[in-house]
Amino acid sequence: MEPIQFLKKLINENGNSDTLKEHLEILSAQLSRIENKVQDLETENAELKKRLNEQKNRTESFASNQHHSSHCGHCGSALLKKTESSDSPSFSEAGIKDTTYQCSACGEKVAF
Ligand SMILES: [Zn+2]
Repeated sequence: MEPIQFLKKLINENGNSDTLKEHLEILSAQLSRIENKVQDLETENAELKKRLNEQKNRTESFASNQHHSSHCGHCGSALLKKTESSDSPSFSEAGIKDTTYQCSACGEKVAF
């Protein structure tokens, strides 16, 4: 029940001032708990926004690195031949694809 509706209900049901004082204290304690909860949620929300932003930066960095890391991870050769391309399981929402290459120097398959 909303705190204000709760207070109105209490006033209607119990009209004397001692009871009202007691109920106002209960209400005050409830408001305090709600304020603490809001504070906790605001803190958590700020932390989640920060993490989302960091993740976004990592995704953008990963995407831009994709165009530059075109060397074989096994022998270091730049002689890579594209063999296949598929949606990245980790970054498909960002439109990033995993591309597989075959190294012409050592024959190993390399995925970016
Ligand atoms: Zn190689």
